[in-house]
Amino acid sequence: MKEADLILTGGVVLTMNEQYDLYDPGAVAIRDGTIVAVGPAEEVEQAWTARERVDCSGHAVLPGLINAHTHAPMTLVRGLADDLRLDVWLIGYMMPVEREFVRPDFCWLGTQLACAEMIRSGVTCFGDMYYYEEAVADAAAQVGMRAVCAQSILKFPTPDALSYDEGLRLAEDFIGRWKGHHLVIPAVGPHAAYTATAEMLRDCARLALSHDVPIHIHVAETAQEVQDHR
Ligand SMILES: [Zn+2]
Repeated sequence: MKEADLILTGGVVLTMNEQYDLYDPGAVAIRDGTIVAVGPAEEVEQAWTARERVDCSGHAVLPGLINAHTHAPMTLVRGLADDLRLDVWLIGYMMPVEREFVRPDFCWLGTQLACAEMIRSGVTCFGDMYYYEEAVADAAAQVGMRAVCAQSILKFPTPDALSYDEGLRLAEDFIGRWKGHHLVIPAVGPHAAYTATAEMLRDCARLALSHDVPIHIHVAETAQEVQDHR
């Protein structure tokens, strides 16, 4: 028998491989943090032994989910004026609240809460865009989640930058410190077309290209926005 560290067994295993193979009941053997066997439970259990064995009956076993768009620290303002149309909510309520309260510790704590919630629902990786993105990245890395973290850049003052030039500098500094991290990919976050100028968008694209990092931006959030940017 081969030796693994952990065997997850008895659940419905969704492999998400090219054939979408599904094993019910299935098992997954893990050694040194790497999956070493996946297959029908009986087959895996006959070939592998492990110090730890988790009975996953009644559960699905699948690759971690990815939340492609978050503002993780905003867990701390959840429920605040959340029944308004987007532009009224964002410009009229949320941005003034953020300018008042959003600091690095706010972002770090809010992200830790968000990570706890995401892990509970099976999310192991998230794409974020917010202010003080370094605090978001730091909280995610400490928790052990993967994240693509975009430093927001807007055409007006934000909680962490008085101007868009400053926002751009913050983004570049942030990228310099986090590029190559084993869990966090830094990114450039021009917030949206309606909070940017054409020049800003070009600068953001140049920055992303020069550092070979992703861009994260809001597009087509409302029917009005789709119409405005046609
Ligand atoms: Zn958003």
